[in-house]
Amino acid sequence: MLEVEEARQRIFDYLSTLPLERAAVGNAAGRIVAEPVVAPVDLPLFDNSAMDGFAVQAADLAGASRERPVTLRIVGEIPAGSSSSLQIKGGKCVKVFTGSTLSAGADAVVMQEDVIIDEKDPEKVVCCESVKPWENVRLRGEDVKKGALILPKGERIGAAGIALLGAMGLKDVGVARRPVVGLLATGNELLEAGESLEPGRIYESNRSMLLDPLRAAGASPRSYPIVPDSLRDTSRILEQALGECDAVITTGGVSVGQYDFVKKAFEQIGGELNFWRVAIKPGKPFVFGKHGEKLLFGLPGNPVSAFVTFLLLVRPALLRWQGASQVDLPTHPARLAEPLANRGDRRHFMRVHVDPSGDVRSAGTQASHMLGSLAAANGLVDVPPNTTLQKGDAATVLRWEL
Ligand code: AMP
Ligand code: MG
Repeated sequence: MLEVEEARQRIFDYLSTLPLERAAVGNAAGRIVAEPVVAPVDLPLFDNSAMDGFAVQAADLAGASRERPVTLRIVGEIPAGSSSSLQIKGGKCVKVFTGSTLSAGADAVVMQEDVIIDEKDPEKVVCCESVKPWENVRLRGEDVKKGALILPKGERIGAAGIALLGAMGLKDVGVARRPVVGLLATGNELLEAGESLEPGRIYESNRSMLLDPLRAAGASPRSYPIVPDSLRDTSRILEQALGECDAVITTGGVSVGQYDFVKKAFEQIGGELNFWRVAIKPGKPFVFGKHGEKLLFGLPGNPVSAFVTFLLLVRPALLRWQGASQVDLPTHPARLAEPLANRGDRRHFMRVHVDPSGDVRSAGTQASHMLGSLAAANGLVDVPPNTTLQKGDAATVLRWEL
């Protein structure tokens, strides 16, 4: 049986890179940069005031103090958003605001709070402190220089990256095309939400569980109707989904039961199985295969097994396919507040809850059908076979939400 790292590598070996497309900057969150972005302009775009106050020549205020104040004459104002040809020299100043351009000749800004305006002579400001040259001035290019690499290829675009692109006046960005991923749930017992419950039936929950994690991995999910447990139906719907999507995720039907048809159906329609079974708990019966350029990820039916194999094997593959440089789950160093025991002979990715202080506890009973403990968890700890991690031990928590 393959270790999870080997299984992951086998999947990676099959991946090409998805083609580039352009995404509107405002819609680029979560996309992977396919074309590095170089700053087309300096940021700030121009020297500007960091404060509401007065643009001055620092030299005019050299030696100013409470005892020996310096009085400057206001020759105009420059509100943010406008420009001005006002010139400052010898004893003059211009009223400016946060983000205002500086008038020619000015090399510092005195904060409004640090001056006294003479009510009888509102054209004048009395300065009781000196300023250093360029104090309270935001200099052109001090944040980002024109020509600097701002988004390297493979980076996942987040809110700050979007702001940076927007501030530079960029309207779109070259990203990897989203992989379209079909979601198939197999099982005669499964009901759609809202259907009336009958003896022996359960509500289907895997497809909706995977929608958000798929989107967060940059994929575009597409749900298909529930697949009955028959070779014919499984082959038909699988073939349709493979025709319409880049990859298909199935859940259920990958074990050794008489009603498990996913592997057989996939081979019958020309798919090539690459591996089946991974040495982890939960999620052992995971299957991976290729159909032309299309991929099959066959997840086990138990919801927790489906979730864990998605995180460990499918999520990194989808990110790598888009060219992402970071495909691992975020990790969180933590400390066990209670023992975690794995009495089995496979690595157990146990559901845990890590609190803000870094204390980790089991999130509840670990059986692979139990969604209560999955919902109570915010991470997984990889516990080696036949091992009990003790209270106080350091542990690395794999997180899926931060
Ligand atoms: P299977 O892998 O098909 O043998 O399914 C294993 C277990 O997971 C069974 O108890 C199924 O009823 C359950 N199961 C399979 N698919 C789903 C699903 N989509 N939603 C909820 N439970 C499921
Ligand atoms: Mg089944």
